[in-house]
Amino acid sequence: MNPNKLKTVKRLVVKIGTSSLILANGQLNLKNIDELAFSLSSLQHEGYEVILVTSGAIGVGLNVLGMTRRPTEIAKQQALAAIGQVELMSLYNHMFARYQQKVAQLLLTNDVIEYPESRQNATESLNAILALGIIPIINENDAVSVDEMDHKTKFGDNDKLGAIVTNLSDADLLVMLSDIDGLYDKNPNIFEDATLIEHVSEITDQLMKSAGGAGSRFGTGGMTSKLEAAKLIFENDKQMILTNGARIWEIRDILAGKKKGTYFGQ
Ligand code: ADP
Repeated sequence: MNPNKLKTVKRLVVKIGTSSLILANGQLNLKNIDELAFSLSSLQHEGYEVILVTSGAIGVGLNVLGMTRRPTEIAKQQALAAIGQVELMSLYNHMFARYQQKVAQLLLTNDVIEYPESRQNATESLNAILALGIIPIINENDAVSVDEMDHKTKFGDNDKLGAIVTNLSDADLLVMLSDIDGLYDKNPNIFEDATLIEHVSEITDQLMKSAGGAGSRFGTGGMTSKLEAAKLIFENDKQMILTNGARIWEIRDILAGKKKGTYFGQ
């Protein structure tokens, strides 16, 4: 880990997963959402440029409709994403406003990022929002993105989107907030003797194996998708911290160069 490299961070992307936004009983995790709004707003006020990549539209949609199970039908999932996205943004807007911070919404699909012209447009839009002192809040446009062989507009998961946005915005750091303290040598929810890995400088096959399986009920990616995101981070010579979304205020310690979670970088 290179504390000095973290101390020079100016622009950062924070990615928060559904498991940090929705409680196991399906209710909104207001504590985490409030801490996120406070932490990011205060950083922005101090001169950092912050971008938030958020999951949670479908989870919030389930909550709005009082449903407990994610439907299997794609059209219904997309409807839930559309319903939940409005509620999620309304909640963010309200929470950030409490800390005198304005937010903007960007809904992206993979095709936007793949075409150079629309990619450039997305970058310029992000830069313009940041220049106004506003925090862009980004999600995949789940209500319309598709995953067909000949027409693939899905990113796959928001961990990957977090890494893509980090590269797109030329940010210095991706903070990946999850429901776990970092990457362990094996799944700590299964193995009691799992130990935290503090520093990863390369994504090896061995590491990929240790990440196996999907994660929580609401989180979709599990640890594998976080390591796939880390690969994109390494390819672009960026850095990433994987840490716990239940202690969001620690982002401040991370930016001060203190050891928290797992650091991915040289
Ligand atoms: P989020 O919704 O926050 O993106 P996920 O639930 O998708 O998070 O992924 C985190 C989960 O991945 C952990 O709670 C844990 O159950 C699982 N996991 C599997 N292998 C590992 C590992 N080696 N280290 C840490 N977590 C792991």
